[in-house]
Amino acid sequence: MKFNHHVLFVSSAGLKEDSPAKQALGSLKHAITERGFIAQIADNIDHGIKYIKESPKYSAVGIFWDKNNPKMNIESEAFISLFRKRNPTTPIILLSEENITDNVSINILKEVSEYIYLYSETATFTANRIYTLIHRYAESLLPPYFKTLKDFTEDGDYYWDCPGHMGGMAYLKHPIGIEFINFFGENMMRADIGVATAEMGDYLIHAGPSKTSEEIAAELFGADWTFYGVSGSSGSNRIVAQGAIGADEIVVVDRNCHKSLNHGLTLSQGRPVYLKPTRNGYGLIGPIPTKRLTQASISKLIKESPLAEGAISPEPTYAVVTNCTYDGFCYNVNDVVKNLATSVPRIHFDEAWYAYARFHPLYKNRFAMDVSEDIPNCPTLFAVQSTHKMLPSLSMASMIHVKKANERR
Ligand SMILES: *Cc1c(COP(=O)(O)O)cnc(C)c1O
Repeated sequence: MKFNHHVLFVSSAGLKEDSPAKQALGSLKHAITERGFIAQIADNIDHGIKYIKESPKYSAVGIFWDKNNPKMNIESEAFISLFRKRNPTTPIILLSEENITDNVSINILKEVSEYIYLYSETATFTANRIYTLIHRYAESLLPPYFKTLKDFTEDGDYYWDCPGHMGGMAYLKHPIGIEFINFFGENMMRADIGVATAEMGDYLIHAGPSKTSEEIAAELFGADWTFYGVSGSSGSNRIVAQGAIGADEIVVVDRNCHKSLNHGLTLSQGRPVYLKPTRNGYGLIGPIPTKRLTQASISKLIKESPLAEGAISPEPTYAVVTNCTYDGFCYNVNDVVKNLATSVPRIHFDEAWYAYARFHPLYKNRFAMDVSEDIPNCPTLFAVQSTHKMLPSLSMASMIHVKKANERR
């Protein structure tokens, strides 16, 4: 596997430029660079700390154990605990001039993957050991979907299959195409492969690496099932609406919903009654007041709606609410679910701007997948999130999270 690996060695302030240890570190840096890695030496632990604060890019760090430094344990523990915050499994190596394990604190020992005695082997041999360590780490690092795609692309396995550009080759037949490849880079074309590529599993029946990836996402976001979408939350909202609403069913819809939900209503031929949100003095559209979510209020809406006549049933089958709004208003999800549960068996939360909610305690119980487990007759919950809006995925990436209805329903 090709990888741009960075290795950081942390030297000691006590080492003189012409000391054997400093020379040995220099040779090791050279040997590592020869193996295609990018190696760097920090002069002391303070500088090392600056480097790891600046970036979590290192695939291995080596600390030179200076037995003449009385604060070696304290300083190394500070360095390692900071490093572990962002790099929980990255290899840490201790480099020393002699056997040191007796002096090293247990907190450090348990984090160290390898010991290197600077003079007992050649720099090239040590560089090989570090290479193996990094290779093993890298193998465990990549998530299943990206790893499979990367391996497949780098293996150069060729399929006589769609897409018709054939790994970008079609573009080479015209100057505009060549410009296109130069701009995006050849890997982008090579990695753009057809849906029938067996190694990648199946996106449509959710099998193989794409399924494994969705399972990991479900666990991360607190869902029973997660499905990836590549048509933004606009596409995902339409998918949920079309899947959850039957023709001529009455549905309860946030009046301030995104237009993709209106498309969903048109496609599914549902009959909406609308929940009116508040609007404050600044013109900001806020949440729907709780009293409008009660069963009494919703049955009144249905009774008064001209669309109710000819509907399949007077009972609504689905409700959709925007959480959070463009202006950042979010709901206490337990309140919304408890109230709507008395009217509908399915609730859809449009969380297009809200994919980050899972990752900060401030939003506890304020996003759909964090609903309390003990809500009686909890409906099936859908949350649609634009992963591309407030999390860093590529444009159009979206997720549909689903929580199963409570058994008693
Ligand atoms: C942006 C937005 C959508 C559509 O999301 P895309 O990922 O851009 O398709 C849906 N609902 C709400 C509330 C939005 O703000």
